[in-house]
Amino acid sequence: MSAAVIRPGATLGLLGGGQLGRMFALEARRLGYRVHALDPGHDCPAGQVADLEIRASYDDVYAAEMMARNVDVMTVEFENISAETLEAVAKICPMRPGASVLHTVQHRMREKRFLSDNGFPVTPFREINTAVDLKAAVADLGLPAILKTASFGYDGKGQQKLTPGIDLDAAFGALQGQQGILEAFAPFELEVSVVAARSATGETIAFEVAENDHVNHILDTTVLPARIPTDIAREARRMAEAIAVALGMVGVLCVEFFLLPGGKLLVNEVAPRPHNSGHATLDACVTSQFEQQVRAVCGLPLGDPALLRPAAMAQLLGDLWENGEPAWERLLAFPDVKLHLYGKVDPRRGRKMGHLTVMGDTPEAALQRVREARSALTA
Ligand code: AMP
Repeated sequence: MSAAVIRPGATLGLLGGGQLGRMFALEARRLGYRVHALDPGHDCPAGQVADLEIRASYDDVYAAEMMARNVDVMTVEFENISAETLEAVAKICPMRPGASVLHTVQHRMREKRFLSDNGFPVTPFREINTAVDLKAAVADLGLPAILKTASFGYDGKGQQKLTPGIDLDAAFGALQGQQGILEAFAPFELEVSVVAARSATGETIAFEVAENDHVNHILDTTVLPARIPTDIAREARRMAEAIAVALGMVGVLCVEFFLLPGGKLLVNEVAPRPHNSGHATLDACVTSQFEQQVRAVCGLPLGDPALLRPAAMAQLLGDLWENGEPAWERLLAFPDVKLHLYGKVDPRRGRKMGHLTVMGDTPEAALQRVREARSALTA
């Protein structure tokens, strides 16, 4: 595959202006690029650090076209952007990842079908359009099972765990007319993920496997490397790279896995962008996931993803602000802790406001240290 290299000094366009876009923009600017960010909000996290913030909705095709005329390549930090916008952009400048990648992963049924058709292991699933479909799927897959809306779900939104005795008509009703997917419950021991990059040149590299702990469906802590046998880690990285190739991805993607007792990996979902579980790469790897996205979409050689030392990341949610401003000076008294705040002014419950990263001699030591540091914020 050959692609024109987009060199430092060029302008990168970003659809989405959240924290992922902010960290991408900071890394892009360090590398000497200019960044334009489009987001429906004003003073968005990425807009605060970009050269230009464009306020428009993701389905405003005209705004995206105007933007595309002034950038050298367009990328995303958010996958739920309309196909119409993505296709319009692609007529004007390179859109990386392409509209077809986003189309596949925007919809859980399409995503699961793509994975299983390409030989990647997933939990058994069924398409749900009617209450009759749901009853038949439950008879087939058994309970417990997870019922999800097929579109626009993240952090557990639009998800119901179905357990024996549940009212299936009510569960179907909660889909509110949206298409659903029923997934067999995966009795996982651990949730792990792999961030991988594929450059416009076709070069593909994965980071170390991350071990993730969720609280209320939101990522709470990540440890790098995951505490799993090396052959399983190798297989997870191999699969993430193979998924990037099969999708025709250009950019960074994250593959989330369930690790079952006995060592089998199932792919849970794919995000075609940098990921929350890759945040520690900013402080703990030779190249961060955000620098890697810049390199990948610009057709540059990829950077070394090597992990310098074991590391842990802890999310800072708006909940920490419940009794007033967190005690930053107590946190910063931990001299080894790296604080990242996303520039959001409204600390709502469950809202991702920032994160902490700490390195340690072992994954356990890093995890313990990052938890201690976070507790100090509200002690
Ligand atoms: P998702 O939005 O699909 O990533 O799901 C959010 C979280 O719900 C996952 O990180 C899991 O903890 C849980 N979950 C989702 N699907 C399943 C499943 N099929 N089996 C067991 N747990 C699941």
